[in-house]
Formats: sequence, structure tokens, C-alpha cells
Amino acid sequence: MRAAILHEVGKPLAVETVDLEKPRPGEVAVRIGATGVCHSDLHYIKGDLPFPLPVVLGHEAAGVVDAVGPEVDSVRPGDHVVMLFAPACARCRYCDAGRPHLCELRSRVRGKMPDGSTRLQWKGRELHHFTCVSSWAEMAVVPEAGVLRISEEVPLTVAALLGCAVTTGVGAVVNTARVTPGSSVAVFGAGGVGINVVQGARIAGAATIIAVDLLEHRLEAARRFGATHTINANEEDPVRAIQSLTRGGADYAFEVIGRAAVVRQAVECLARGGVAVAVGIPPAREEYTVGGPAFVLNEKTLRACFYGSAHLRADIPRLLELYYGERLLLDELVTATYPLDRVNDAVAALDRGDGLRGLLVMG
Ligand SMILES: [Zn+2]
Ligand SMILES: [Zn+2]
Repeated sequence: MRAAILHEVGKPLAVETVDLEKPRPGEVAVRIGATGVCHSDLHYIKGDLPFPLPVVLGHEAAGVVDAVGPEVDSVRPGDHVVMLFAPACARCRYCDAGRPHLCELRSRVRGKMPDGSTRLQWKGRELHHFTCVSSWAEMAVVPEAGVLRISEEVPLTVAALLGCAVTTGVGAVVNTARVTPGSSVAVFGAGGVGINVVQGARIAGAATIIAVDLLEHRLEAARRFGATHTINANEEDPVRAIQSLTRGGADYAFEVIGRAAVVRQAVECLARGGVAVAVGIPPAREEYTVGGPAFVLNEKTLRACFYGSAHLRADIPRLLELYYGERLLLDELVTATYPLDRVNDAVAALDRGDGLRGLLVMG
């Protein structure tokens, strides 16, 4: 099968023929249907975050089960699945506490499968897995806990988005911050994940939804997804603009970029008692700071959101219900599709800020 390999940071990916082993006990082979190109992938390509190389990236995907290893009972060949980049072990302290997205497995599987080995080889050399997904490829072998069966009626392009952008963005609103009806929400960054924070806020019943970005086409898109106001941060100071639109400050603010200066703005634009949520993953050396006295005296909160604080197996079917009820826009998120051979074009488009979400669609 073919896969896009990152051999060296900052260099184009190479689409090559690689060997993929059969699934071992508790593992599943998935034929990838569609896979998103996400900012987190870009961090590793650019070296903003370190990762063992060579690696097959891709963490937002959906496909069709091709084969299952022994002891697998939740899926069968032919099943359509969403791939989950935080497979849960069901027996660690976080899983026991009902927070499987924080499962300990994540730190143990860096570049490997849960048993510490890999299923991917290129010219006899081991290739690293990425988040137990590695979907920028025609096929992937993943843990059974890393797939969730969905109806065959869901287009795989739409299903792929549930693997990261939608679940993270909507989850940040409904799970992490628990936005209440009638409240005011500011969203810094209206890209693939940020636009889903916007529609999550609409679904949660926020009365005022302010999208902040530097790109006019994204602000236009944000209005279609539910923003009541937009601010181009190139043209005006977003903190002041948000404060004046919300009678002194927003109840909630979401930072969906991963930059210290913007996290600071998200905290500063809050009303007293407001909650800021850091969703964007920052580069390795970024440190977040807030102005101390105003933070304490105004009783603000800054918290982080990983993977939408989601209970994936419960939340993804609910998101699909919202999609079928025409309240969650998914088809509209896909603004470009590419074959695997054009993965570098897809990455360049993401880096430029084109569109909302680009997908690699396998032949
Ligand atoms: Zn992602
Ligand atoms: Zn666990």
C-alpha cells in the first residue's frame, strides 16, 4: 500500500509504497476513505513539535474495516468506522474516572502501537505510527479501541471530520466550557476547529457569538456557521471590540490557534467570572501568561481542552444526530479534496489558510 512519509522536518512528504503488517490480537486494519489535513499535523511537519521520524502522519479519518485480528469483537470487515486518535485502554485511572480522552495510553504509544512495536515498514526500516492512526495512507492498522463503528449512510468525507475538528470544536463548547444558553462567546481563530467552536456555540444557544480571525474569507464562513459578529484582528483591537459588543466582556472565550499572545487576549476579553479555553496546540516552546491582578480580581478561569473533553463513543453518535437534524453543518466544512499524491498541495493550502478543511480522499 502507499503512504505519505515525513522523513525530515521542513521537507515535503514522500508518497511511497510501504509494508503494512496484518492486524495482531486486538487490532483492526482499516481501508482509509477520507482523512483531514489538520494544524496539528502541520506542527510536526514544521518541527514546531518534535516527533520520532520517519512517521506516517494523519489523525482525522474514516474508512472501512478491511480485516480484524483475533479477539476483536466490536467491528467486522466491511464496517464503516471513524478513527479515534486517543484510543482508551478502559483500565487506567482516567478511564476509570469516566474521562477516556485523557487515557494514559496516549503517552505510551508515541510513534508505536500499544504493545510498543510498529506495523509499518519502508524498505525494511521501521516507520513510526502517529497517534495510533497514521491515516495519510491507503490503509492503517490501529487498536480496536481506536475505531468507532458508524452507519454506512454517513459519507466517509463527513465521518472523517468527526475524528478531530468537529469533535474538538463542539466538545470545547459543550463539554469543556459547558456554555449556557443566552451567553456571549468569543472565538479566536475560525479555521477547521474554530469554525466548529462557532457552530458548537450556536447549538449550545449562545446569544452573542463573535469570531475573530485575520482572514476575511474565514470571517464570512463564521457568519454562515453561526457567528453573530466578526472582527478582523488586522483592522481593530479584538479585546476592545469584544468588550464593547458584550457590555464589558464575554462570558466565554476560545483560543483555537495556539499562540501565547492570543491566549492572553482571550483571557483579557472576558467578563468578570468568565472562562477562557485554550484549544489550539502551541509550538513546543510557547508559554502562556496572563496579567495577574486582573485575572484574580475579576475571578477569571483559563483552562485547556484536549479532544473536546469528549466521551468519544457517546459524543460522536450525538454529533451525527445533530448532523441529520441539520443543526450541525458538516458537508459545508469540506472546502477542498485531494488525492494522496497531492498531500503536499493540501499541506501548503492549510499553511496558507485556504478554505476551512482540506481532505485527502483515497481512490
Ligand atoms: Zn486535528
Ligand atoms: Zn485508559
